[in-house]
Amino acid sequence: MHSNTVRYIRNLFRSSGAVPLHAPRFVGNEKNYLGSCIESVEVSSEGEYVERFEGMVSEYCGARHAVAFNASESAMRVALVLAGTGPDCEVLTQPLAHAMTANTVDSLGAEPIFIDVERKTMGMDPDRLREFLAYNAEVRDEGCFNRRTQRRITACVPVHILGFPCRIDEIRTVCDEYGIMLIEDATEAFGSSYKGTMAGRFGHCGIYGFEGHKIATCGDGGVLVCDDEALAEAARSTGTIPYLSDAKEAAQGRFSCRMSNLNAAVGCAQMEHMKTIVTKQRDLARRYQEFFADYEEEEEVKLFRVKKQSEPNCWLNALLFEAPEDRDAFLDATNAEGVATSALWPLISDLPRFCECAGTDADNARWLQAHIATLPSGVR
Ligand SMILES: *Cc1c(COP(=O)(O)O)cnc(C)c1O
Repeated sequence: MHSNTVRYIRNLFRSSGAVPLHAPRFVGNEKNYLGSCIESVEVSSEGEYVERFEGMVSEYCGARHAVAFNASESAMRVALVLAGTGPDCEVLTQPLAHAMTANTVDSLGAEPIFIDVERKTMGMDPDRLREFLAYNAEVRDEGCFNRRTQRRITACVPVHILGFPCRIDEIRTVCDEYGIMLIEDATEAFGSSYKGTMAGRFGHCGIYGFEGHKIATCGDGGVLVCDDEALAEAARSTGTIPYLSDAKEAAQGRFSCRMSNLNAAVGCAQMEHMKTIVTKQRDLARRYQEFFADYEEEEEVKLFRVKKQSEPNCWLNALLFEAPEDRDAFLDATNAEGVATSALWPLISDLPRFCECAGTDADNARWLQAHIATLPSGVR
């Protein structure tokens, strides 16, 4: 299977040598728009492309408001702050995630709580979330509190891993019961939908990522989307330290982390091709399905798929191996040939800083981490 796979992938990407896991695709107005930023000397976050990019993102996903930041991490930090997160607070998230989420929670002086994921979706399991809260949480006038630690649980941050939607509607129901703000980490799921609604649109707010390896890129960037005007306004001002302001209170609790016009210019050019990009990603997923169908019959390996109600953006294709040793051998063999494949991140809840944090067991996250290999998925 290894040499066939390497041959097939090189063929798919028309390469005789190395194939990256993902690579940005610049085929539109990127250079034009960047050039016009330079000419107009509008390069900071007060530029026309920032507004235009926000408008394009909100229209694409069907949100009333979009606020652009210099990274998803910044969008996440602002969302967590607006949820009221600070010292003596806790935030629900999942053990299988980018380190960004837990690190951002940590940087605000709060503690993450890790709720295990489902094997079927790779995202947070709403049943485990409900169970954890039923045992540990208490709703008071001031919000939801952890009965054991007496700390406030401000937010819940599930992740749509590799663009595959998790059971986000059920997670929303649980969060609403407990008065917890749902911040949907849709950094990898821009263009995915679940039950007919775009991922990122189930939470009180959603966050999309636009760094260089995502489905569409600004170079670096993240966008917070929501329907609540007050929340959007607060996100805008929390992400901006007022220029030429001598009032100290105007700067308090604020960050300087909005997107620059240069990054937004690239983002606008990418958004003009968003439909094509998603179509190409989904076509690639179909090609992989055809190729791996034979191996699936022999039950060695399976392409990761989600339930019928999901339409993933197919940002990264993933193979699920029956045996972890086979997964490891596959990673070694393909990478030795320059065909980049990868395991998922090591579990956040295993890192020294977070291994004492509360939560459920992480059995499914650990299982997925040992069985999955991602495949080159950057369409040209
Ligand atoms: C890419 C990614 C991030 C980090 O995004 P930045 O824009 O670099 O901050 C965070 N979480 C997930 C799930 C990601 O895929």
